Amino acid sequence: MKITQTHAIAFFSVIFMLMASISLFAVQKFQNSTTTLLASRTAEVIATTVNQARVSYSADIAQISSHPDITVETLYHDKPLSIPNPATFAIELGQAVSNRAAGLIIHTYSKYPFKSRTLTGGPQDQFQHDALAHLTTSSPVFERTEKLRGKPVLRHAEAIFMEQSCVDCHNHHPNSPKTDWQVGDIRGAIDVTVPLEGGNDDLAAIVRYSYIIFMAFSVISLLGMFITLKRTHQHSRELDKKVKIRTTILNEMAYTDSLTLIANRRSYEEFSDNIINQKCPNSLPLAIIIYDLDHFKQINDQYGHDIGDECLIAAVKAVSAILPKDNNFHARIGGEEFAIILKHVSNDELEQIIQRVLESVRKVKIPKQADIKITCSIGATLATELNEPTIKNIVKTADDALYEAKSLGRDQWINKPYAVSKKL
Ligand code: GH3
Ligand code: MG
Ligand code: MG
Repeated sequence: MKITQTHAIAFFSVIFMLMASISLFAVQKFQNSTTTLLASRTAEVIATTVNQARVSYSADIAQISSHPDITVETLYHDKPLSIPNPATFAIELGQAVSNRAAGLIIHTYSKYPFKSRTLTGGPQDQFQHDALAHLTTSSPVFERTEKLRGKPVLRHAEAIFMEQSCVDCHNHHPNSPKTDWQVGDIRGAIDVTVPLEGGNDDLAAIVRYSYIIFMAFSVISLLGMFITLKRTHQHSRELDKKVKIRTTILNEMAYTDSLTLIANRRSYEEFSDNIINQKCPNSLPLAIIIYDLDHFKQINDQYGHDIGDECLIAAVKAVSAILPKDNNFHARIGGEEFAIILKHVSNDELEQIIQRVLESVRKVKIPKQADIKITCSIGATLATELNEPTIKNIVKTADDALYEAKSLGRDQWINKPYAVSKKL
């Protein structure tokens, strides 16, 4: 199949659109995963910080709580010399660090909240229920993206494990809802909600601008390629045209005599060969006229070669003018020797033409050379049958006739009957 310019453009356009779609999809995927990863890391750091603070606090109050004046309470605010228990500490630390307006929420909750916190201390929504179920059975981290007031958020939950200090306290505390805790048990979770929008606008903008720049460069490159392709195609067409014109000119030059601008000997031979090879079987009756300028050497010697050239040109012009327009082949076959091939002529028509050739040469006038008289001798023959290689025989007959005309004194013609049986 020939690949045209249109095919190439259509192919590259489809490839480009495919690549643009794939890259857009990849860029969005990259942006989303980067945003989620960033949110996940942020949530992890916050959860670890709050949890670690709770663990440290828990270890500290184990010592302080033995002081007779200090009590560790869930609802400690209104009681003098009381301090929050570790769960309350963690809940309040989370609330203090949270920024609800920005979508950052830290919430600590328990599987078995103390009675005073039954309503707020346990899981508050489906995510927290699912997280507790997951954390208890699978890995210690549970994450998923959700919508919070219509905006995407990442929710990250981490398990809170019972330490030795927690077990000691809870298993002996009068208000504890569960008293058979063991070290390593999951007692609750810390839930960190991080917004997926707004926090990383710079990254989104960088990704968006990179994509726009990439697309712009791609479109410019594609356009450049199309223009180059079109120009190359145009250039090659122009080149083709020029080559054709030059080939035609070269062909014409190869078959044209440069002085008289009629057919040359090569053209004459090919024309004759065509007739021999019966490529023109309908050319009969066929006449050949050979004419040769008389005493031309003398003209050259007397007037110079340039004037001789002018005489040749003028003689050819005069003869061409009297030949039938669409049924003749006129060639220069030697220095001052010419051939005319006529198809479908009768003997009478042939002799009329021969007569006119003779007279037209006689009438040739060379500017500023009034005394130059040009004449020619003519040999001709007419063939009504063609057998291989009779064209050579026809030419030979015409040549013999020319020789006879020269012998008889020149400036005259002989029309020699063509004998079919004649052999070279
Ligand atoms: P004849 O009547 O027997 O034909 O005598 P002629 O002198 O014409 O014949 P000959 O063959 O002796 O000489 C032909 C001359 O034609 C010789 C040559 O200088 C001249 N000639 C051939 N080609 C050219 C040409 O291109 N230009 C010029 N000016 N002369 C040419
Ligand atoms: Mg001559
Ligand atoms: Mg000659």
